[in-house]
Amino acid sequence: MNTLGEDMKKEAMLWESLDENRVRCHVCAHQCTISEGKRGICRVRENQNGTLYTLIYNSVSSMNIDPIEKKPLFHFHPGSNVFSLGTVSCNFRCKHCQNYGIAAADVGEVSTREITPEESAELARQYGCGGIAWTYNEPTIWFEYTYDSARLAKQAGLYTVYVTNGYLSEKALSTIAPYLDAANVDVKAFDDEHYKHINNARLNPVLRTCERMKQQGIHLEITYLVIPGYNDDHDELRQFSEWALGIGADVPVHFSRFYPHYQMTDVPPTPVKTLEEAHRIARECGIQYVYLGNVYGHRYENTYCPKCDNILIERHGYNVINHLTKNSCPKCGWGICIYI
Ligand code: SF4
Repeated sequence: MNTLGEDMKKEAMLWESLDENRVRCHVCAHQCTISEGKRGICRVRENQNGTLYTLIYNSVSSMNIDPIEKKPLFHFHPGSNVFSLGTVSCNFRCKHCQNYGIAAADVGEVSTREITPEESAELARQYGCGGIAWTYNEPTIWFEYTYDSARLAKQAGLYTVYVTNGYLSEKALSTIAPYLDAANVDVKAFDDEHYKHINNARLNPVLRTCERMKQQGIHLEITYLVIPGYNDDHDELRQFSEWALGIGADVPVHFSRFYPHYQMTDVPPTPVKTLEEAHRIARECGIQYVYLGNVYGHRYENTYCPKCDNILIERHGYNVINHLTKNSCPKCGWGICIYI
């Protein structure tokens, strides 16, 4: 175990020099202008003498072998395990953060261990994982590490996954896209005011990232955490669903149940009925694969054929039973794009 320090420092990617020894970081949509001696909004990228450094290059705070369904990714190597890594801090400040222990921490405040990109690929293989996911906190903020690791993982025959708030810049996405196979993007609301007040960010960059991921051939699934009284209005859910449909009717959408957390312990858990309403709205809009998350044992954890409603993939928590016949419905022949 380690405490973050100079040894995890590395010159950053995707930045430019400005006047008066300032720099601008181009990794995420915040596009921070950083004066000498200061850090960006993510608190892990620092201007030292006019050069931008990451302070957490390979600082791993969390490391687990997870089912891919936990990310959640339901149409991507179902039933496989994924080697999952997280670091510290975040470029958002979500009031309901479920991982605030690491995401709200500053550099040096939590224990970490150094794992090189080579070691991460090797560990993933040793543990029998199909791939590597950067998850738990925002992968963009240790972009250099995820980029180096993703390139090595691909060489090692592993798949690569971002579980992300979608705030990475167009430049960052196009840089890592050749080595990134799949992403689950959180759309936290379909309302810019919500993003400003609850997440300290803006909505549009997130939507553009989802659209670009789809265009660039990255397998995309979208999660929408439904928070009672905050983003569960039917009009908002419909607008979100219509936008998601515009990306692709076959892009899986996960409506996830909120539980009181962090600075929002005064908000009750999402009623299951509200989630079922969100499901209904999205299906009415034409989204073919809609799921409920954090509702163990619900029938909408399963994948159903959009044409004949036959069950295609059965899920009980993280247990998966695949009924597909060569990526098609065994009853009516409907084809579904699932990466096996
Ligand atoms: S990653 Fe985003 S938040 Fe962090 S310094 Fe760069 S632009 Fe700012």
